Amino acid sequence: RHLKKYFPVKAGILQRTVGYVKAVDDVSFHIEQGETLGLVGESGCGKSTTGRTIIRLYEPTDGQIIFDGQDISHLSERQLRPIRRDMQMVYQDPFSSLNPRKTIGTILEEPFSVHRLYSKKERQERVAALLEKVGLNPNWRNRYPHEFSGGQRQRIGIARALTLQPKLIIADEPVSALDVSIQAQVLNLLKDLQDEFKLTYLFISHDLGVVKHICDRVGVMYLGKLMEIADKNSLYREPLHPYTQALLSAVPRPNPNVKKRERIILEGDVPNPAHPPSGCVFHTRCPMAMEHCKTEVPQMREVKPKHMVACHLYQQ
Ligand code: SF4
Ligand code: MG
Repeated sequence: RHLKKYFPVKAGILQRTVGYVKAVDDVSFHIEQGETLGLVGESGCGKSTTGRTIIRLYEPTDGQIIFDGQDISHLSERQLRPIRRDMQMVYQDPFSSLNPRKTIGTILEEPFSVHRLYSKKERQERVAALLEKVGLNPNWRNRYPHEFSGGQRQRIGIARALTLQPKLIIADEPVSALDVSIQAQVLNLLKDLQDEFKLTYLFISHDLGVVKHICDRVGVMYLGKLMEIADKNSLYREPLHPYTQALLSAVPRPNPNVKKRERIILEGDVPNPAHPPSGCVFHTRCPMAMEHCKTEVPQMREVKPKHMVACHLYQQ
């Protein structure tokens, strides 16, 4: 709720704070239990920072994070410990997040020792079961990360996220580093695991095709702001925000019978997040911009059932 995460910009020999990058600036949304919410936008729009703040890798600058009814926005590391089990992260590059000197058996058992759970034997049994769940041979537990392909390593990354039976998984570009041919397999695995373990996903991606495959609802971010959020079908069929319309116009349509969208090319680049434009942050590039867009910040409004958009075109 009204989540903000600002990072200080330092300059000079004294490293004085001269300003702030508003990586996440007043973002509100909810995720229902068992659903997958996609968060999309170009790199630097704040979607990863949103995910990392929700999971409390960062403390928010302002606003609230309510997890399972509890406000976790400013809990200390100690207070967070029991909650950390319930929220796990899956990263884009499983290779850099797996210690190359440890066998995957050791890597997967680590969360159990951190939380002092189970006997040695039971840990090993659980790891074997996990490997099987993610489609890997349980006898591979003595192998090292470099012995696996990219897709297999991501399966290990997913297994590791599952060790403590979390409720929420934040997946940050989990298939972006994989070959297109492998992406669908990993996405389907995530879907199967979701059904089996009643998982809730926040799925962060720049790829609207991938998001369409896996998500129930989708939010679109630009320069630290949430522009639009809706059911997947509503958003893809009838995007309301000019930015969403531009993003979707660039996605090839799988069905040639569906009428083609006119490709919308946005002028200019994404502005510097340390100096975001006034009013609607998108006004410098918006083909529909009006005079008051330069001064007035548009508020999120429900324009159709469960379809919210922050744009002055819909504020009347
Ligand atoms: Fe464009 Fe104005 Fe809507 Fe912003 S508020 S997206 S500038 S029309
Ligand atoms: Mg990112």
